[in-house]
Amino acid sequence: MHDVVVVGAGPAGSRYARRAAEDGLDVVVFEQGQVGEPLACSGHVSTDLWEYTEDARDELFQNEISGARFHTGGPESDDHPFYKDEVISNVIDRVGLDRHLADLAREAGADVREGHNVVGVTESADGVTVEVRGDDGVETHRARLVAGCDGPKSRVRQELDLPEPGELLHGVLGFDDTADHQDFVDVHLTVPKFFAWRIPRGEAGVEYGLAVPPGDDARERFETFCAGYDADVTRRCSGLIPIGPPDRVTGERSFLVGDAAAQTKPFTGGGILYGMTAADHAAREIDPDDPSTVDDYERAWREDLRSEIRLGHAVRAGYSVPKPIQKAGMKAFEGEIGVHMDRPSTLFSREQLKALLSRS
Ligand SMILES: Cc1cc2nc3c(=O)[nH]c(=O)nc-3n(C[C@H](O)[C@H](O)[C@H](O)COP(=O)(O)OP(=O)(O)OC[C@H]3O[C@@H](n4cnc5c(N)ncnc54)[C@H](O)[C@@H]3O)c2cc1C
Repeated sequence: MHDVVVVGAGPAGSRYARRAAEDGLDVVVFEQGQVGEPLACSGHVSTDLWEYTEDARDELFQNEISGARFHTGGPESDDHPFYKDEVISNVIDRVGLDRHLADLAREAGADVREGHNVVGVTESADGVTVEVRGDDGVETHRARLVAGCDGPKSRVRQELDLPEPGELLHGVLGFDDTADHQDFVDVHLTVPKFFAWRIPRGEAGVEYGLAVPPGDDARERFETFCAGYDADVTRRCSGLIPIGPPDRVTGERSFLVGDAAAQTKPFTGGGILYGMTAADHAAREIDPDDPSTVDDYERAWREDLRSEIRLGHAVRAGYSVPKPIQKAGMKAFEGEIGVHMDRPSTLFSREQLKALLSRS
């Protein structure tokens, strides 16, 4: 009988497993493939990321970003720059990040098993039963609790009939190998309800990407977007972005963390930091000997992230207003900003006010 079976070794699962193992729990993590693969992420994160790693910056770092140029049209359109006089975010090797976080979980004592696909989960009064398909066929594991850290299409969520996220956007990205060390990303408000982006990744090249609601032709839009930049895209990948956490992400002996719980920023789709923040709440609040403590996790992560997610929805609504209003709004606010990229509430901070006042 394990204390916790963790399904999925992405950032949320590995972070939770590390923290829980450090607290002395017996933790086994099942990852269906190889950790970090396949890639479906830009790896563009606030510098807060480094609080979750150990001496890994040299290995994972690709580029630093201090601003974004917003466009209401394609590459030729006017841009509206928003920036800080310091580094806002880093572009990192996302596959490397996942491997590093899984290594930290292993070092803390968690048993991380790759090539293990969880195919069934049931809860009962005295524990959970998890069926896992590996090289040797299907094994059955028992645990006090199960953590569903298995991404936007979460099998755990589905098996336990937990509610679905509000939306699943379809993201596509591709890479041009030409080195680019600029410190600005480009954001194009040219796709429905979201945006297209260009991210300079230093020696790792340039990334182009976009995300759209289901039913829209992401591939076609992506090809048009890249052609506008005359980009030579050699590798492409795609993935889902959950937006809008459901009302409940916990069951009797189960809890969801990360994309499985749609713990993402509605205005960027970024979920690496929110997922690991929630993982820390789970490790702090949940005691496998007392399954009712999953309610404490539910309360804690919502108290921490609820208003940021709500404001994030409000920022995203701005992507859909008529272009003349977008342009006027961006003209009014462009320039230096004091905002933290993971916390839209800092739009109302003293730093932001100072940045606005300093413009005259
Ligand atoms: C196109 C795109 C660009 C993005 N860019 C950014 C960005 O720049 N910055 C940012 O912060 N976020 C970004 N995101 C979001 C980010 O990738 C996710 O928020 C993040 O990966 C969530 O981490 P997670 O651990 O919850 O889930 P995941 O990283 O999805 O990890 C889930 C893991 O569970 C495993 N798994 C799934 N099912 C099973 C099963 N049945 N059994 C065993 N294992 C299973 C998967 O293989 C996977 O390894 C982007 C997403 C997309 C699609």
